[in-house]
Amino acid sequence: GQCVAVCPVGALMEKDDTDQVIKALADTDMTVVFQTAPATRVAIGEEFGLEPGTDVTGKLVTSLKDLGADYVFDTDFAADLTIMEEGTELIDRLNKFLNGEKTALPLLTSCCPGWVNFYESNYPDMLDLPSTAKSPQGMFGAVAKNYFAEKLNIDRKKMFVVSVMPCTAKKIEADREELKEDGNPDVDVVLTTREVARLIKLANIDFVNLPDGDYDSPLGESTGAAVIFGVTGGVLEAALRTVYEVLEKKTLPRVEFEAVRGFDGLKVATVTIVGQDINVAVAHGLSNARKVMEEIKNGNPRNLHAVEVMACPGGCIGGGGQPYHYGDGDILKARTNATYQIDEAKVIRKSHENPAIKALYEEYYEEPGSEIAHHQLHTRYTYRERY
Ligand code: SF4
Repeated sequence: GQCVAVCPVGALMEKDDTDQVIKALADTDMTVVFQTAPATRVAIGEEFGLEPGTDVTGKLVTSLKDLGADYVFDTDFAADLTIMEEGTELIDRLNKFLNGEKTALPLLTSCCPGWVNFYESNYPDMLDLPSTAKSPQGMFGAVAKNYFAEKLNIDRKKMFVVSVMPCTAKKIEADREELKEDGNPDVDVVLTTREVARLIKLANIDFVNLPDGDYDSPLGESTGAAVIFGVTGGVLEAALRTVYEVLEKKTLPRVEFEAVRGFDGLKVATVTIVGQDINVAVAHGLSNARKVMEEIKNGNPRNLHAVEVMACPGGCIGGGGQPYHYGDGDILKARTNATYQIDEAKVIRKSHENPAIKALYEEYYEEPGSEIAHHQLHTRYTYRERY
């Protein structure tokens, strides 16, 4: 940490997790690393009077640097990494299926802890279905405290990782034993979008007039596939962009998969890859998730191969830690549109083309699904009592 500007107001804080971050920022011995989730950049501006759907990515980066962050990185980088690991898992399972071997299908996405908690407590007999890939937040923490701490030549205990998340369930996720090493968490504190806004206000930072900052390197580079993780259907679309190109060994004619976009509670689509029909479904909101899970439990009549679930309506853009939206469809739509615009404006829109991800595999993780990748980037599921 470098900056103590926000410390004197500590006593005025309501009970939240910002005080721990203030402490770490004031500790000159601690390297403080921030990551910002995809959905936060299209919503946090609302806390400062900006229109819903204003993309304030650059201002968010600058504000975190002004607070005293040593590094500001992007969860989107880890979302690209998630696609590499989860996409490889999906390809492995599809190959087995196509060869007539027994395998666990459909693959369920595992990046939403609201959903993970739900299936662990409600469907303990089906825990072979979810991808073992950690969520982007979890992967980021593992990369930061292993690869990046080694690179800086510091003890992982001298690094403090702060997540900026749209989500309160992410706090519980960060506390999982599987996301710790010898008791030291990969992510030290999770702040919601609203908590971060409060921190910025307490530090008297004039957010609206901040210049745009750039994410630090190398955990700050990301593609359009990563940012759409923030909206319902986005994780599956990102995975399809990569899975298609890896299996077909050719460039996608069109990167947008319109069929998995939009606000229908349950979207079903069929994509033909290497001559095979791949059936996918996208659910948002846990009542829709339950519907699709009951269907799978009862014999998977639609022959689904991959299913994305997000617990919040609209996906993370409608998360419980975001500026209050009161279920207002216009606000959710504005945040969604802004997300797709960020994707469209990116030069690189497929996770497997992210040069920083390629370099990370070359330098450290070898290849998706390698032993070290499994050790650091994957997790496991167990039956849990209801949260
Ligand atoms: Fe969190 Fe909701 Fe996003 Fe799930 S959908 S990760 S619960 S914000």
